[in-house]
Amino acid sequence: MILAVLDDSPAALDMLAYTQSLGQQVEAVTFGAADTDDLAKRGVRAVHRIAHDELADCAPAASGEALSQLIEHLRPEGVVGVCSDAVTEAMAHVAAITGLPLATNCVEVSTGDPWLLTRVRGGGMLLEEAELHASPALLTIAQGVSGDIGAGPVESCEVREFTPELTEAAATTQQARIVERASRGSGMTLATAPVIVSGGRGVGSADGYRALEELAERLGGVVGCSRVATNNGWRPHSDQVGLTGTKVAPELYLACGISGATQHWVGCMDSKVIMAVNTDPEAPLVRRATYAVIGDIHEVLPAVIDELKARSEG
Ligand SMILES: Cc1cc2nc3c(=O)[nH]c(=O)nc-3n(C[C@H](O)[C@H](O)[C@H](O)COP(=O)(O)OP(=O)(O)OC[C@H]3O[C@@H](n4cnc5c(N)ncnc54)[C@H](O)[C@@H]3O)c2cc1C
Repeated sequence: MILAVLDDSPAALDMLAYTQSLGQQVEAVTFGAADTDDLAKRGVRAVHRIAHDELADCAPAASGEALSQLIEHLRPEGVVGVCSDAVTEAMAHVAAITGLPLATNCVEVSTGDPWLLTRVRGGGMLLEEAELHASPALLTIAQGVSGDIGAGPVESCEVREFTPELTEAAATTQQARIVERASRGSGMTLATAPVIVSGGRGVGSADGYRALEELAERLGGVVGCSRVATNNGWRPHSDQVGLTGTKVAPELYLACGISGATQHWVGCMDSKVIMAVNTDPEAPLVRRATYAVIGDIHEVLPAVIDELKARSEG
């Protein structure tokens, strides 16, 4: 049996589907409420709900200890987590507590002795083939990796409450604490938007993003940016694409005035279509893009917006 550790992100459901495609019985683990109807539709017969007062927001050490106890109790062959910050950190605590190796960011997995893995390293620049000699195998699945659910729906998913006995140490070593909660303006995020209109130094100022916002709205997408834009205070960090921002994979990534440094490229390279608008025909992103427009974004973007307006009115 494999335990799939979920959080409340859509990526967790992709990870669950991928884990189910490995051909073994999969049971889910959550630290909060579980949508049992949805899990039953996805063929999951049991969800272990870890509950404890100390497991409030951002309690990675306590979550890791709780998860270790559940693993000890259930003795699964593998524990697979979604590669989110919270789950990865909890899994790292599990690895430290149990002395087992943890393989993060896997894009391909086959179970066995050893488990065979392909992992993304170096911010996406390197794929590593690895053997995992451990029982249980601890790993996380990279975001964006999904699979066909092998099992059909089941009648119901049983909730099994698990109350860990947390040591005082786990309860008190909460290095992480939430200082601010920012709500998103719309339902679409960089991670889910089909279109991203992204801007870099070439946009020139915070005001310059108005054209990108208008274009994104007309195309049904959101605005992204390079690190130069966040460093300059033109955009919030939540808009940043790249190694130290969000990794994106939209249908269309429109890169406006972005050179395409490696740290940016690793964040957008999985986009289906990349179009670069840049004055420099030799910019790395222009050379790698599916399509490129060589020109000044302050002329190109208004022209595109005018054309879209004319089409929607005509
Ligand atoms: C550890 C580390 C992590 C990093 N993480 C990230 C990250 O997550 N994301 C990220 O983006 N960067 C990251 N960086 C920074 C990265 O190395 C680059 O410095 C950054 O991506 C460059 O941003 P840019 O393309 O906007 O600017 P530049 O490299 O300066 O490029 C600007 C581009 O705009 C073009 N241009 C200028 N004016 C116009 C115009 N009017 N019309 C059209 N084109 C124009 C220029 O020809 C040029 O190609 C990281 C760096 C380090 C060291």
